[in-house]
This record gives sequence, C-alpha cells and structure tokens, in this order.
Amino acid sequence: MLISRDDRLSFEKSNPGRRCVTMPKERLAKASVPAGLARRDPLLFPELAELDAIRHFINLSRKNFSVDTHFYPLGSCTMKYNPKINEWAARREKFAALHPLQKPETVQGMMRMLAELEDGLREITGMDRFTLQPAAGAHGELTGLMLVRAYHASRGDSKRMKVLVPDSSHGTNPATAALVGYRVIEVKSNARGRVDLESLKAVLDDHVACLMLTNPNTLGVFEENILEIARLVHEKGGLLYYDGANLNPLLGIARPGDMGFDIVHVNLHKTFSTPHGGGGPGAGPVGVKKHLVPFMPYPLVEKKGDGVQWAPKPQRSIGRVKSFHGNIGVLLRAYVYLKMIGRDGLLRVSEGAILNANYLREKLRTVFPVAVDEPCLHEFVLSLKQAAAKGVHAGDVGKRLLDFGFHAPTVHFPLVVSEALMIEPTETESRETMDLFIEAMKRIAFEIETEPAKVKNAPYTLPVRRPNDVLAARKPILTYRDLLREEAVAAEARVG
Ligand SMILES: *Cc1c(COP(=O)(O)O)cnc(C)c1O
Repeated sequence: MLISRDDRLSFEKSNPGRRCVTMPKERLAKASVPAGLARRDPLLFPELAELDAIRHFINLSRKNFSVDTHFYPLGSCTMKYNPKINEWAARREKFAALHPLQKPETVQGMMRMLAELEDGLREITGMDRFTLQPAAGAHGELTGLMLVRAYHASRGDSKRMKVLVPDSSHGTNPATAALVGYRVIEVKSNARGRVDLESLKAVLDDHVACLMLTNPNTLGVFEENILEIARLVHEKGGLLYYDGANLNPLLGIARPGDMGFDIVHVNLHKTFSTPHGGGGPGAGPVGVKKHLVPFMPYPLVEKKGDGVQWAPKPQRSIGRVKSFHGNIGVLLRAYVYLKMIGRDGLLRVSEGAILNANYLREKLRTVFPVAVDEPCLHEFVLSLKQAAAKGVHAGDVGKRLLDFGFHAPTVHFPLVVSEALMIEPTETESRETMDLFIEAMKRIAFEIETEPAKVKNAPYTLPVRRPNDVLAARKPILTYRDLLREEAVAAEARVG
C-alpha cells in the first residue's frame, strides 16, 4: 500500500526511529535492485513501538459498541452473536491462504464447503440453485433484479418497466429497482401492517416486472396473504422477489420457495451469525427457482462424482457480479455455523428469536405503543409519536440508551411508522440482559415525562456525543490533534 505524504502527517503518534520489530540485519539477504527501479524516498510508514500501536488500536476499539461488548437490538439488521469457532475456522491457514486462481483439484476442500453451503441454503429456503457471489444484501438485490430483467428480456417481454415495493420495505429495495432502470411503484400497507390486497390489485398489470417483498415484513409481522399475493403477481406475468436479509424467524419453520417466490437473497452476515457493521465484508447469496437458472451469474459450483468442479457457464448468464468467488471468509463462517448448529438447532434459533422478541414486546407495549399490536416474529416497532409532543424524537431515545450501555435500536425506520424504534433482540440474548434493557426503556419513558431535555441532550458518557452528521461527512476530523484544535477554538469562542 502506498501512503502519501499527507497521510504520513496524520500518523501523529509516529516518532522517528521507533520500531515495533527489529530485523536481524546481518541475516537478511542483500537484494540488488536495478537502479531505475529502486525507491528514491523512504517508505512513509508510522514509526511506533509495539506498545504504542497496541494502545492505539485497543483504545479505539474501547470507544466502540459491538455485539461482543453490548446488547445490540438493531431491528432488521440482526446483530447476533458470532460464535468464535467461526473465526477460528476462517483464520485457518488451510482456508485463509488459498488463492482464487488455484486449480479446482488443489482446493477441493474449499469447493466442497461452497457446494455444501449451497445445499444448506437450498434446503432452508426451498430454492433450486444459489449463487454465493454477492457481497451484501443490496448486492444480492441488484443481482436478483438483473435476473428479473434478463428473464423478461429472454421472452421478448419488453414492456415490463415497473417494480412494486410495499411502503414498509427496506430502502435498498426501491433503490435497487431504480438502479436497474425500473420505475418504482409503492404498494400501501393496511391498518395491520400487511400489504393491502386492494392497493396491490390497483397497481398490478402486465407492465410489472416484479414485486419485492420481505416476509415477515419490517414491522415484524407475517404476510398471511402471501399465497394470494403470489398468485396475483404470477397471473399478471410478474416475478416475486424475496428480500430475505433477515431470515431469523423462519429457519426450519417456513420457506420462501414454498410461498411462491422466484428469487431470494439471504444475508449470511445477519441470519447466519457472521459479523457485520462498519461496512465490512458480507455475503448476500441469491437463490432462484428452475426457470431462472439459465440466467445465473457464474462461476457456480457443481458436484461431480466424489469431487466438486466449476459448472459450465449458464447459457444466458447475466455475467459475473463479483471478482472470483465471493467473500469466501464470510461464506466459511456461515458454513461452520450451519454445521455446528444443525437442522434441529436452526429451528431452535428461530423459536428463540421469536420468543425473545415477544418477551420484549409484551414488556414494552405499555411503555410505548407498538405499531402493530399483536404477536410478532423476530422484531417489532414502537412508535414514539407521543414523546414527540415533548420534543423528544426516536433518535434521542436511541442516544439515551447508549448511556445505559445499550446500542440504539434502528430508529426512524420503517418509514410507515412515525417516530419508529425498531427492536430485534435475536435469540442469543439472555432474559437478564433483556430485563435490564426494559428497565432502561422505562427509565427513559419517565425522563421524557419529567425532564425531556435530559433525553434530548444525551448521550453523556461517550467520547463522541452528537456529531453533526453533515459536517462529519463534509469536513471530517480524522486526527486527535485536529480535534484538540477544534475544541480550543470552540472554547475560545465561548469565552468570547
Ligand atoms: C439489511 C437489509 C438489507 C440490505 O442488506 P445489506 O447487506 O446491508 O446490503 C435489505 N433488506 C433488509 C430487509 C435488510 O434488513
């Protein structure tokens, strides 16, 4: 990696001559580099002692919230515990040191892992074939809608320009449809948070390429009319796309493939316990029914005899959607999780996720109103619109929770609920942890009534309090010296 002089200046803890490691100079071979190729300037790396480097990174990490340090009830995004055996497997040199261009016969273990992961996902979702390439949920959606477009195009059906999305949908759904060139049409939810069948019928015609649906939807409730919805869409020649980013409540209970969906994506980094957040790598495998297999991206794995090989490129493939074979490390973690937990374990995961969510919902429904007040699946949404009358918004409650040692739930989403607070505990949390969270929520409800300013100005206990989101993006402060300077300027301005 090349580091520019400017970057070098930001390594302010650097001290000329300091070293983490010292190389035994006499044992290093002397290289003779042709004159024209030799480096003219010294490498601009920060110069630090090992202790300085360790403290730098450990102290940075202590400023952060993570699943390993705090309860993280982020609705829709499933932040569940990542068992450390997954990390152990992903770090094994036998996997980590492979090269993506190795010949299949030299990487049969890895290829078998890919094939068995695909088998597992097929069984869990009821689809016929999976590509493991997409690197995230949104990337899976992009792949899926490219498949939709290729499918209709292959039938000479060029009039389909519309993609339907419910008003409770995740923001990536309309964004993806627009990116692929479709016109996005919103479908209204009914009073019980489900797709309103009459609104659906009103916008359904033979210009519809597909309907994108999350089930259970982002309000945490199941679309009971799914079979009727599938029939209506298919009758008009449209396809059904399943946003399975969050499959946590369905494992071993119900399958999108049986509900009539043609394409699904699943987020391994949510449901299958591999870590995510901070823009890190994820995996959003896409599964399809038979009629869409000819359009799939390649390469695909395929079992042959005792071995596994790369399958021939599908006839009308949309092409590659990612370099090489996807984020293998993430796939491997999900594979280990599936193998470890097994078929019965998966069912218990979903039962636990549903039980935990309903425990929290039942305890909190008298504190703040629930958007759809009936038993939920893996998550539920509270509405803080009464608090808004006191000037306190959902985001403020999220901030105040940080002071009590809880990561904020998802706030201000889904958009159909005003002042939404979306909570998903996941199956990996204990009752004790959830009870502490309930206490914190009750305390905040009391504060909203008695001293709303306290909630509005939270958090009080964190190194970063209320960053100006716009300024943080436009004029980021990336080094602590800049921060000290900014604070000095601000202090001076206050003194006058
Ligand atoms: C998280 C999520 C997505 C997007 O997944 P990414 O991996 O973040 O791109 C899409 N839909 C739903 C319902 C989600 O929860």
